[in-house]
Amino acid sequence: MPTRTDWDVFYKLKLSPRQVRCQGYRPVHMPDLGCHTKLVLDADTFAAHLAHGGGFELQLRLGSSPDRIWKSMASAGLEITDLTCGVCQQTVPINVARIGQHLKAHLSANRQNVHGGQFFFTLGYEQAPTTEDQAWAEHEVAVDDAVREAEKPQAPVVRPKPAKPAPGA
Ligand SMILES: [Zn+2]
Ligand SMILES: [Zn+2]
Repeated sequence: MPTRTDWDVFYKLKLSPRQVRCQGYRPVHMPDLGCHTKLVLDADTFAAHLAHGGGFELQLRLGSSPDRIWKSMASAGLEITDLTCGVCQQTVPINVARIGQHLKAHLSANRQNVHGGQFFFTLGYEQAPTTEDQAWAEHEVAVDDAVREAEKPQAPVVRPKPAKPAPGA
């Protein structure tokens, strides 16, 4: 199944991960749930750390040959839900020209993302509804309608729970 994320962009840019860390970043990850472990660079490792929020810090380098890692990310079905430039903190669309812009010197920043540089990205899996999910959702709607028909709509009165007094108050 092809991914929505065009992982080939990284392949075409001949970028390779030099160092990867499981790391949340602002404003996408508040709080940062990352375990801050430096990771072995393969798709399985990324997948194993998704439970820690899905944020990763990437130190990239421009290589002479494209890196196979990006192909394996695509085969694993991983999707980028956010890509942020580590220099200017802008959200970067996944395309060759736009990422290429952030690999150059930034006029507005002292630091430069040359020869690769620092990015942050968030990974996840695309939650495309399967036909089974669809059927189940329709079934649930049908059940809800049946229940509504059978019962008179008498909503229970929900009283807000009294707030616990703060200790020492
Ligand atoms: Zn982790
Ligand atoms: Zn940038």
